[in-house]
Amino acid sequence: MKLITKVIPEPTEVYKPSNPFKAKVIENKRLTPVESEEDIRHIVFDLSGSGISYLEGQSLGIQVPGVDEHGKKNRIRLYSIASSRKGDDGLSSTVSLCVKRVMYKDDQGVLQKGLTSNYVCDLMPSDAVYITGPAGRKLLLPADNSVHLIMLAVGTGIAPFRAFIQHIYREKGSWGGKVRLFFGAKTGLESIYMNQENNDIGQYYTQETFLAFQALSREEKTKDGNKFYVQNRLEENEKEIWEIIKEGHFCFYICGLKGLESGAEEVLDKWAKKDGLNWNTMKAEFVEQGRWNIEVY
Ligand SMILES: Cc1cc2nc3c(=O)[nH]c(=O)nc-3n(C[C@H](O)[C@H](O)[C@H](O)COP(=O)(O)OP(=O)(O)OC[C@H]3O[C@@H](n4cnc5c(N)ncnc54)[C@H](O)[C@@H]3O)c2cc1C
Repeated sequence: MKLITKVIPEPTEVYKPSNPFKAKVIENKRLTPVESEEDIRHIVFDLSGSGISYLEGQSLGIQVPGVDEHGKKNRIRLYSIASSRKGDDGLSSTVSLCVKRVMYKDDQGVLQKGLTSNYVCDLMPSDAVYITGPAGRKLLLPADNSVHLIMLAVGTGIAPFRAFIQHIYREKGSWGGKVRLFFGAKTGLESIYMNQENNDIGQYYTQETFLAFQALSREEKTKDGNKFYVQNRLEENEKEIWEIIKEGHFCFYICGLKGLESGAEEVLDKWAKKDGLNWNTMKAEFVEQGRWNIEVY
């Protein structure tokens, strides 16, 4: 059995909830146009003096100052790091997050604001924020760059993959294996890092090893007239992706909404059955080998 060796995080300062780092906001930009019903932000923080070094695929925690209704400190919320280890400016002193403003209806049907996401989305340059981490090892890149990377994301789930792509093509310059990104949003307006507000990922479309596939659930329908999701786009690419998986030299990553994992597995199960294989057995091996990497929330 061939195990995947991941890039190992360097020893770094890790900030605990009891001793968070006070970071300054450098920039807060909306990634969705104002006419979009979703407000998703790209926020850059200054980490100077923190001693933090992070890797693509890790997360940071943010704690809103103050206490909850029980008098306890507000809960820390995790956010995937959206920039490469060197940060957007390449100077290794910043980190970027991609945060969606969460709104929900309470038990009385009254519209409420998600505490942390609204706090972060409303931050202004030079505001101070308490940060914990870096944390998380599930979504690290493989050390061997001939490993094929298959990435599936919905919404802000794109954050770690933006970091991967920035690191691979801007810092390393290339990747030996195939890099395949399947990304879903409701409409093109919400297709973050690939829309008119910010097209960071689009600038890598010409890279030889990179292909990106979008699925816009409100703009396209399946043959049966249903909404078109990431898993439907994955299904269209059966020949290439199933070959890669059967060959066994890959890392599969899923990030974003929980439903994406089951949607992708339905497709893989279908492909396996056609070949007389058992997806659950295959997946168990892939999990053990470190090839199946999931971070859904
Ligand atoms: C590993 C990881 C990575 C993540 N990465 C990202 C990322 O990159 N970007 C991103 O935007 N998010 C990310 N998240 C999600 C993020 O951590 C938060 O969960 C999200 O921002 C909502 O937090 P909040 O404090 O704004 O909302 P909260 O105030 O905690 O509310 C969250 C939800 O709880 C429910 N709720 C809370 N109070 C009530 C109530 N009184 N009545 C009914 N329902 C209620 C609602 O459904 C609401 O939507 C990640 C999560 C994890 C675990």
